[in-house]
Amino acid sequence: MAQNGTAENGVPPNPAALPQPCKLTHITHTKLFINNEWQSSVKGKTFLTFNPATGCEICEVEEADKADVDKAVEAARAAMRRASPWRRMDVSSRGRLLNKLADLLDRDRTLLATMESMDSGKPFLQSFFIDLEGSIKTLRYYAGWADKIHGKTMPVDDNFMCFTKHEPVGVCGAIIPWNFPLLMFTWKIAPALCCGNTVVIKPAEQTPLTALHMGALIKEAGFPPGVVNIVPGFGPTAGAAIASHMGIDKVAFTGSTEVGQLIKEAAARSNLKRVTLELGGKNPCIVFADSDLLLAVQEAQKGAFYNQGQCCTAASRVFVEERVYDEFVRLSVESAEKIIAGDPMDPRTSHGPQINQQQFDKILELVESGKKEGAKLECGGLALRDKGLFIQPTVFSDVRDHMRLAKEEVFGPVQCILKFKSEEEAIERANNSQYGLTAAVFTRSVERAVSVSSALQAGTVWVNCYNALHAQAPFGGYKMSGNGRELGEYALAEYTEVKTVTIKLNEKLSV
Ligand code: ADP
Repeated sequence: MAQNGTAENGVPPNPAALPQPCKLTHITHTKLFINNEWQSSVKGKTFLTFNPATGCEICEVEEADKADVDKAVEAARAAMRRASPWRRMDVSSRGRLLNKLADLLDRDRTLLATMESMDSGKPFLQSFFIDLEGSIKTLRYYAGWADKIHGKTMPVDDNFMCFTKHEPVGVCGAIIPWNFPLLMFTWKIAPALCCGNTVVIKPAEQTPLTALHMGALIKEAGFPPGVVNIVPGFGPTAGAAIASHMGIDKVAFTGSTEVGQLIKEAAARSNLKRVTLELGGKNPCIVFADSDLLLAVQEAQKGAFYNQGQCCTAASRVFVEERVYDEFVRLSVESAEKIIAGDPMDPRTSHGPQINQQQFDKILELVESGKKEGAKLECGGLALRDKGLFIQPTVFSDVRDHMRLAKEEVFGPVQCILKFKSEEEAIERANNSQYGLTAAVFTRSVERAVSVSSALQAGTVWVNCYNALHAQAPFGGYKMSGNGRELGEYALAEYTEVKTVTIKLNEKLSV
């Protein structure tokens, strides 16, 4: 995701001048992080985390279950108590702590990027330039908000003074996925902390390592005990315990729509905690004949293949106007065939493995369904190597709306190209989905860009670009792509309660 600061300036990089991963032989932090202490799990259970590029074990991590979540919530509630160090801290100091944390991420950038790539299979340079940069910017952005969260004064009748305060919601649970482990960690903790909440966060079971290193940095930055608690573990156990916990006041979730529904149900059945959800997408990307075609090819492909297609924002339905369709397909195939896949630690690599066997099998099964349903496989479609979970960047043309490839979230490196004739048709087909996360439009006409982006049912619309995310700009979905918004000023509302204070004034003051 292009959260600024990418290496993509069009000039081929000199590999020797690029950042290199560090030699990581030992992972220091593998325990639960509760109350600023490293703790073993109550049941003494652990789980293994693997490198998807090699299939090798990286290390064992303590596995949190319900009893561990209870301990984490207790610590988070204690840290929220009236007159606790966190509650007494002046709001500017909260901002200073977030900025300190950003400094520490910057200091440990190579280490974190290496860990992220080992655990998730992300190409190292993408971790280094994009995920780390985005995480640091998110922390700094919300650091700036900490002392600017104002209420209002309401003009009521002269006998009263009436104003609002924006208070923290309380203990915020967070459940995050494996595709952007560190970025999602910061998207969740930064707005929660700047508003004065405390956090219990569960990283995905596939990618716990950078989250645990964050525990060490949070302590080093000087956050008081209990403000952030990190509980690696599985969804149906630790995740479900967060969603249904009576001591958690809000839960923020990023992941699949199916699990999002479970979270909302568990929240409703427990204490009606607030829920924000960032879920799946089947995002349309509409390319008009009047667009800069080379740019459209490049950006649509970035949308399809970035992070091996494992993005909720993936450009998974590319609608191309009939007049330029053949040329678009030809250029897309040419471009896909140039992608360098391989060892994510090699700075020349831009395409790594899929996260696990289950995802790998599901993607190849969807590729087969595309072939059977009559889409044309233009390139790719196969596993790439004998070791690791690599899939070739794959391009299908002649995809039709009724095919599984056009309806289901693939979450893999599969670009689906569909043909359209008119603007109205493109809009209608683009909107014909249960999802509404992102959309993109490629055109040189400003009028068309404005009218089509207004007509598209999506939380984010990119015009002549793709995956352009910024900490300042809200992100979230329409329809079954989610509820609420992350990032930007809009996210602050998700992490604050509004309190109205009405004061009856002295009779003598009123006329
Ligand atoms: P994916 O299919 O991409 O792995 P999931 O939605 O299954 O996405 O997982 C996203 C996050 O949700 C992970 O941290 C996972 O552990 C968690 N999770 C999975 N199932 C549940 C559940 N039943 N309750 C709470 N969290 C869950």
